[in-house]
Amino acid sequence: MKNVMKMEFSARSENESFARVTVAAFIAQLDPTVDELTEIKTVVSEAVTNAIIHGYDNNADGMVYIECILDEGCVELAIRDEGIGIDDLDEARQPLFTTKPELERSGMGFTIMENFMDKIEIETEKSFGTTIRLKKYLTNHKALCN
Ligand code: ATP
Ligand code: MG
Repeated sequence: MKNVMKMEFSARSENESFARVTVAAFIAQLDPTVDELTEIKTVVSEAVTNAIIHGYDNNADGMVYIECILDEGCVELAIRDEGIGIDDLDEARQPLFTTKPELERSGMGFTIMENFMDKIEIETEKSFGTTIRLKKYLTNHKALCN
């Protein structure tokens, strides 16, 4: 049976750890391994950071939206902003590509998300924002997932 959690918060870097911990606490009921929990927390951090620093260019008036669905041992995450959107998605997904080298970003966020999760889909529209949809099948439940 599906279990749904939704949260929204101001695009402030202080809220990044709040988001990461909240999602982890929700997922804990599926009994993930320590590694799986660490991976999901890292992915939430990467996507939320991207929303804040790229989507909203650190303008805290923006809001970040997270939906997390637990379904038979699968974790589905959608992390959304209503910011500037991504110009060239193929380029943005390349390892080491960053539009903010001056902020010492390494351009590894999307690569980390792809490596730690089983599925990633990105929807983006210029001036309207970006949604990252991610899916991970937890080992303890793998047989239940489709
Ligand atoms: P790192 O994540 O290693 O600190 P980064 O954020 O630049 O560096 P990625 O997370 O891989 O690297 O993102 C690549 C690029 O995609 C960013 O530099 C940015 O141009 C664009 N991008 C990512 N997320 C968003 C977003 N939510 N809104 C607008 N642009 C984005
Ligand atoms: Mg990033």
